[in-house]
Amino acid sequence: MRVRVIVFVAVFVAAASSAPAQPTLPRVHLVATGGTISNRDGGRLTAEDLAKSMPGLDRAATLTYEQFANVASSQITLEQWLQLARRVNELFANDRDLSGIVVTSGTDTLEETAFFLHLTIHDPRPVVVVGSMRNPSTLGYEGAANLLEGVRVAASPAARGKGALVVLNDEVNSARDVTKTDALRLQTFRSPTHGVLGIVDRDRVVFFREILQRHTAKSEFDVARLTALPRVDVVMVYQGATGDVIKALVDLGAKGLVIAGAGAGATSGTQNEGLDYAAEKGVFIVTATRTGAGRIAPPQRPQAGAGGQGQGAPNGPATTPAQQRRRAFSISAEDHIPVKARILLMLALAMTSNRDEIQRIFSEY
Ligand code: GLU
Repeated sequence: MRVRVIVFVAVFVAAASSAPAQPTLPRVHLVATGGTISNRDGGRLTAEDLAKSMPGLDRAATLTYEQFANVASSQITLEQWLQLARRVNELFANDRDLSGIVVTSGTDTLEETAFFLHLTIHDPRPVVVVGSMRNPSTLGYEGAANLLEGVRVAASPAARGKGALVVLNDEVNSARDVTKTDALRLQTFRSPTHGVLGIVDRDRVVFFREILQRHTAKSEFDVARLTALPRVDVVMVYQGATGDVIKALVDLGAKGLVIAGAGAGATSGTQNEGLDYAAEKGVFIVTATRTGAGRIAPPQRPQAGAGGQGQGAPNGPATTPAQQRRRAFSISAEDHIPVKARILLMLALAMTSNRDEIQRIFSEY
């Protein structure tokens, strides 16, 4: 359900003719999708409730808002990702004077929605995803504070060209790098390898670094005419994990698989048999790491010399026909965590079935 009514909430005070001219406030649009930030006992907060919840908003921005959904983030569907990306692109395209957009989300899978927007929004203006860890009925609810900080970031010229951003707990993280690291703590959103992009301080939003990989305005992914995303599943590696699950996923129609590999990508048990089966059926296999951080290098060319990183690692020499076939369908996730590698693989597969092209995409984004 999406309510497209756009409502202005800033309070305009008619200026007396003698009053000094007020500087025009930046305009920010809020798209609410639900999550803990809205999950009040006895009835969820709407976009309007959220927009009216921020003391001091009238000094930061003029805010318009709309309700896109009002659900837990884990309930957001792939169709909704596509609709949301199209809606955000449309909002930017139709309003050249808009400074930025804030999207509220539940925190559990917030990083997935945020990364999808990072790859599919074609505008340098900031898209800021905001949530909260405590719900509005809890003492210490931090939703209004996070939201106001998100609005300030969306209104900040410094946030332009930095891709989709995640703002909670006074910190700005890139949608590319951030992940939820704690089930309950307020300081849960972290970018484990690269760190925060910036902070939201009392006086201003301060950025310390930016993302060099492609995103938003430089992204090649066009969701304008995409009606569905190819099925991609994530498979976890653990001791004794078997390959029959992988075969089942292939038979269920997966077009791609992301392996949340042990260490630098090792598999276990009979998982290699499952992966050989996947390659036989033309299913692409992206190797990521289950460790939560670190880069998996692209596989060596088939003729490359000995090496590799242990049993089942994706980087060793490919000598048998089965290994060569597997290699022809194997891609490295670079430093993307498995759930984000899944998103990138879905978007890549919507465009191409060429292995080298898919690896290029992983290396560029
Ligand atoms: N923490 C949940 C989420 O990630 C929110 C729960 C709810 O909105 O009902 O979406």
